[in-house]
Amino acid sequence: MRWKLVVTLMVAATSRIAAQPAPGPSAAVLRPRIDSMALRAHTYFLSHDLLEGRGTGRRGNDIAALYLAATAEALGLSGAGEGGSYFQVVPLTEAVIDTVGTRLELNVDTAHGRVAVRAFRTPRDFVPNVGTGASLVSFAGPLAYVGSAHEILLNPGSLPVLTGRVALVRGPFGSDMAAADTLRARGVTGVVQLAGDTGTYALYVRSRGPSRIFIADSVRAVSSFIPPIPDVIGGPDLIRALVPDLPAPGSADDHPYLLPGRRVTVRIAVHAHPLVSRNVAAILPGSDPARRAEYVVYTAHLDHLGISVPDERGDSIYNGFSDNAAGCAMLLAIAQAMVAGPRPERSVLFLWPTGEERGLLGSDYFAAHPLVPADRMVAEINLDAGAPPAPPVVWQIAGGTASTLGQLAVDVAHAAGWEAKVAAASPNSDYFPLLRIGVPAVFLVPDAPYEGLTMEASQALGKRWDHYHQAADEWHADFPFSGLVRYADFAYRVGMAAAAAPRAAVLPAR
Ligand SMILES: [Zn+2]
Repeated sequence: MRWKLVVTLMVAATSRIAAQPAPGPSAAVLRPRIDSMALRAHTYFLSHDLLEGRGTGRRGNDIAALYLAATAEALGLSGAGEGGSYFQVVPLTEAVIDTVGTRLELNVDTAHGRVAVRAFRTPRDFVPNVGTGASLVSFAGPLAYVGSAHEILLNPGSLPVLTGRVALVRGPFGSDMAAADTLRARGVTGVVQLAGDTGTYALYVRSRGPSRIFIADSVRAVSSFIPPIPDVIGGPDLIRALVPDLPAPGSADDHPYLLPGRRVTVRIAVHAHPLVSRNVAAILPGSDPARRAEYVVYTAHLDHLGISVPDERGDSIYNGFSDNAAGCAMLLAIAQAMVAGPRPERSVLFLWPTGEERGLLGSDYFAAHPLVPADRMVAEINLDAGAPPAPPVVWQIAGGTASTLGQLAVDVAHAAGWEAKVAAASPNSDYFPLLRIGVPAVFLVPDAPYEGLTMEASQALGKRWDHYHQAADEWHADFPFSGLVRYADFAYRVGMAAAAAPRAAVLPAR
């Protein structure tokens, strides 16, 4: 109830000063910790057209990194990067896809001993998935349908002999990336992902863009998101041509089978060059000298998709207001609240990874080259779920099943009068690489319905403001920032609690 009052005050306020409550016995309780004007201003700058969508390795991304570093400096945080700076250089390779040299050919044996040949082009019919120097390569073979990645892992015994074949996988690998290892171990030469309908395929084309970026092959780093096998994503026309009788998902016919007399040759042509981008990292020292050497880590990726496919308005700048200028701004607002006090007992590391949209590149690099020892990072809190258009009261704690930090976040939510439940981790944001190296890590995800609203009204509001991976994800003066204040406030509370609590413990895999 008192939070509703605070939010009302903030929404009504036209300046930070006006948001200060009248002095009195409840003043300490009502003092807003998260500065809504700071959230407005930081997102205004970071998602401005002049930053050109903060594409990894592009000037706009560098400017965003500089802004975060300069703001951290102004807040009095110290540089946690190389040589006392705020930056960690991430060496990358960019492979620009040659749309002429890249093609897919389907050969079908016909009844009269002849071969029918059909050619497909990128990006109209298919796009290479995220990849590395080892997986952005040509491949060929007869076709085999293997179902979804999840089904491959559930039932590997149902797979036919796959040596030398191209596997048709329904949908993305998602959290079932191990299925790509299974296919590779079975001798599959490459994968064509059956992306689904036109809208889903268009989202892939926009999100992947005209090039692929990966951590330079000369650098040792494990990838959390990039499949370890050549992989292209097929659109609706290609899917129809490859599998004329694609079984309905979950139907009796939906089991792995070979497609006799059908072969594909996928030629991948790229022009590769080195690229550099930067993670930004800053530290607020803890107030307790005995625990100052331990860190609570916050992450929010600073990159977005840059310039990509123009939308129907002709807008080609993917500003990424909600994804993830909002997260970047929340980290700054949380740092500001912690500097104002009370200070957290453990130290806090604020990390803004680059290259998240290209496959968790900055956080994978950080996991391979942590700026503080991995065993000193006692908790990690990731923010990348977009900007809720109203104050959330329901939360999902992704990765919360992997450590006791999940229950701590649930307890913090309950203490504030909100609902929360833990969920499994997925390699869909920067907390995953940290979990992989043994750091208790959670991704706080707001859920509907929002405070005081029905589910229907919450979904309508979500529909109005949510433009996931579209050029229309941009800053608006009339966006209701009360939702971001609440999101940042929850993350602040979880961080403060983790900075004071006994170390979170990693739980055995279920
Ligand atoms: Zn994001």
